[in-house]
Amino acid sequence: MQGLMMDTQLLITSILRFAEKNSPTAEIVSVTHDHALFRYTYSEAFARSRKLANALAALGLDAATSDRVGTLAWNDHRHFELYYGVSCSGLVVHTINPRLFSEQIEYIINHAEDRVLFVDPAFLPILECFRHKLSTVEHIVVLSDREHMPESKLDDLLCYEELLAAQSDSFLWPSLDEKQACSLCYTSGTTGNPKGVLYSHRSTILHAYATALPDAMNLAAVDCVMPLVPMFHVNAWGIPYSVPMTGGKLVLAGQGMADGEALFQLIETERVTASLGVPTIFLALLNWLELNDKNLTRLQRIVVGGAACPEKVISVMAEAHGVSVHHGWGMTEMSPMGVINTLKPSMDELPASEVMRLRLRQGRGLFGVEIKITDDEDKELPWDGHTFGALKVRGPWVCMDYYRSDPDASPTLDTDGWFNTGDIATIDADGFMLITDRSKDVIKSGGEWISSIELENTAVNHPGVLEAAVIGVSHPKWSERPLLLVIKKADAELSKQDMLAWFEGKVASWWVPDAVEFVTELPHTATGKLQKRALRELYVDYVLPQTPE
Ligand code: ADP
Repeated sequence: MQGLMMDTQLLITSILRFAEKNSPTAEIVSVTHDHALFRYTYSEAFARSRKLANALAALGLDAATSDRVGTLAWNDHRHFELYYGVSCSGLVVHTINPRLFSEQIEYIINHAEDRVLFVDPAFLPILECFRHKLSTVEHIVVLSDREHMPESKLDDLLCYEELLAAQSDSFLWPSLDEKQACSLCYTSGTTGNPKGVLYSHRSTILHAYATALPDAMNLAAVDCVMPLVPMFHVNAWGIPYSVPMTGGKLVLAGQGMADGEALFQLIETERVTASLGVPTIFLALLNWLELNDKNLTRLQRIVVGGAACPEKVISVMAEAHGVSVHHGWGMTEMSPMGVINTLKPSMDELPASEVMRLRLRQGRGLFGVEIKITDDEDKELPWDGHTFGALKVRGPWVCMDYYRSDPDASPTLDTDGWFNTGDIATIDADGFMLITDRSKDVIKSGGEWISSIELENTAVNHPGVLEAAVIGVSHPKWSERPLLLVIKKADAELSKQDMLAWFEGKVASWWVPDAVEFVTELPHTATGKLQKRALRELYVDYVLPQTPE
């Protein structure tokens, strides 16, 4: 017997309708090249999404073929309008990461067969180089008003504000199937070509529901949320959906997402209560606050993920600014949230070092995502907090295949339908998962594994260290040994010996790096993570100092 409940489709359109009715006056504040601080309401934003939908139809885009619409844009209100105007029309918004190599951008636009591109003026020069090779792109729309349209070598540019001005703000959103595609995001492609993850309306809604829960991001109408994760990568962790779903205010920081002073001003003046981002962004913000002797007075909590969160971010945020830090883990293929760190009852009464140890774990399960760890024979391993294995996941917002995947590639899922994340993890009896490494970054020393993440976290806790990376370099006896690369703080007096001595007693003695090099910069991926592969290539011939046997 089937239940007798309505078969309502889970659509992004339903968030738009709900927010329009229930939070029409909630604000979106946005920084763009033509507005130092733009401010409007959900009601105005969605009216413009309807104008956009009319404009897309006028440009000939067709929902029947799920036409792809590319965006090369910052976090701002126009990008937000695109998220809804495109997906709710039955089209697919393809958010393009402008920090990818230009050959990769060219590849993904052609692979996605984007018909129209919506581009921030800052990113036009990227397109100028290979516009002639974009065979499917019929129009390029610049996200600007007429007055601020940039000079460009491209002569067929349309102006976003003119496009909208010519349209009515009434549009009948089509009824869609919840399994229909709504958005597309390519992985960074550290090996091979980037791969497209194609989200559905259903997966997006379920992900937004789950991530808004109290033990996840705890989103509410009283919140003001500033995502410092880009809307061009994994939909800014779903924030443009989950915040309108809960009725909060959104602050979209535009191009200034790595500018400590700009972020501080936005947090204080707009009264931002919650923010999300990769550790590098928050390390940079903390560094600016320290140098300028400023304190955050409004921010309550941040979610830090995408890379391991250093202890310093957790402790300084709490002690100096009263901000609680929630570690989280996920990936493009998971929309992205997999686990998030919120403590269980009485855990915060544990000794401080124990609480910190727990908070440093990536987090515990979010209803909707199943996780497990397995050994090389795919046998499930125990949740005992120290056995580590390959981390596998499944659930309604985990991808089952890549968009137009290579037919010769190995299957995306294993025979039981699990997705192998490529991460190595332990899970404790309370379900708290700890990523010990990316399987390709782990340092294999004499048959044992050394966690590069743990060494980096230990290094970054040194007061004189701004950023650190650890890679394995080849060693005649042990196969690989750790090399530590450090960016010192401007005023730090720190010798190589001091740095290595810092590890004593903090990690097993055989984990202590064999060498340290001070550097002035470290390469990052398009999403702000350390680019370990580039570092390994750079230090491929590095000769470690001779150490006594
Ligand atoms: P990209 O490198 O394209 O940005 P993703 O954002 O999909 O790709 O990266 C996902 C990977 O990032 C995860 O598989 C994991 O290795 C790493 N990662 C994400 N969050 C964390 C975290 N909190 N701690 C350690 N690693 C993390």
